[in-house]
Amino acid sequence: MKRYPVPLVPGPTAVPPAVLEAGHYDFGSADLEEEFFDQYARVEEKLRAIIQTRNRIAIMSGEAMVALWGALKSTLSPGDRVLSVATGVFGYGIAEMARTITAEVTVVGFGHDEAADAEQVWAAIETFRPKMVTMVHVETPSGVVNPVAKVGEAVRALGVPLFYVDAVAAAGGAELATDAWGIDLCLVGSQKCLSAPPGLGMVAVSDRAWEEIDKTGYQGYDALAPFREALDRRWFPYTPCWQAIAGLEAACDRILSLGLASVIQDHAEVAAHTRHRLRQMGLCLFPRHEADCAPTVTAVRVPDAVSWDDLDRRLRAEGVVMGGSIGPLAGGVFRIGHMGTQADLALVDTGLDALARILA
Ligand SMILES: *Cc1c(COP(=O)(O)O)cnc(C)c1O
Repeated sequence: MKRYPVPLVPGPTAVPPAVLEAGHYDFGSADLEEEFFDQYARVEEKLRAIIQTRNRIAIMSGEAMVALWGALKSTLSPGDRVLSVATGVFGYGIAEMARTITAEVTVVGFGHDEAADAEQVWAAIETFRPKMVTMVHVETPSGVVNPVAKVGEAVRALGVPLFYVDAVAAAGGAELATDAWGIDLCLVGSQKCLSAPPGLGMVAVSDRAWEEIDKTGYQGYDALAPFREALDRRWFPYTPCWQAIAGLEAACDRILSLGLASVIQDHAEVAAHTRHRLRQMGLCLFPRHEADCAPTVTAVRVPDAVSWDDLDRRLRAEGVVMGGSIGPLAGGVFRIGHMGTQADLALVDTGLDALARILA
């Protein structure tokens, strides 16, 4: 496999050797070993510290999408009202996903280049009276961060039973206070800011959400229900991937040993530095307002003089891989993923130096 020395893709991010090492063991079936249950309990506790919750966290085998789907299917029944706050590919996508499980969905939509307006969301909740509000913390394809805390206030004040937040590209890199913000279903992936290998989806589930999960009774590979007591009963719905969970523990250790607050601060600084240098190069940030720019990924308009394919080829020739974008932004926007291990000034500067040379 071709390796690039300057990885700046917004996930999967570069996995440090200690994390890869931790996942390198090949012993036994996880669900028969007491040692595994101890490890699972430790990982859960470490994840709780990172996303600031006391809630139980289901650690599921599968990409983060398994968490996104599982949390919807486990809590929604046909006809349930869902209000989806959408500012990008994932926000609009979650609305579509809820529709396929025949929820009655209303979208409070915004442009891909802007963050949600909490007052508009407040008004929409008042008229629609949903059972669930869904939103995305960081829209990875467009580099926008949404006001989850403010929307959370509306959700609680107006008595919405469930608040579903896709924090996949935020957890471990942006301010995220799951319990203080009233998040009932907080969705996390292993391969973004945590810089663990791909393959795990995590959901922090509140007591209110467990009640809905009981009522809904959904069963399936992505069902959350079995995780409520899996650890206490020593009974998981499938053989857990011990290697992946061991890697995740080492990845959490990396963040906690650096200190969560300091890691989040580093992300903010690297992001601000990235934006500053891009502007110096005469490039145009994709989000309309700088305040809406995410601390974990920066989205930039592809300049008129080049195509993304050409730019991508020339960056790769210099050993740098940035991300294109997806959906309606494909070709028009490219992204610098400075999350997790990639929230590193020297790494980002090396990538930006190459970009500056190519565009000079
Ligand atoms: C990456 C991402 C996902 C999906 O993650 P996969 O690991 O590809 O399944 C969902 N939401 C957001 C915001 C993401 O950035």
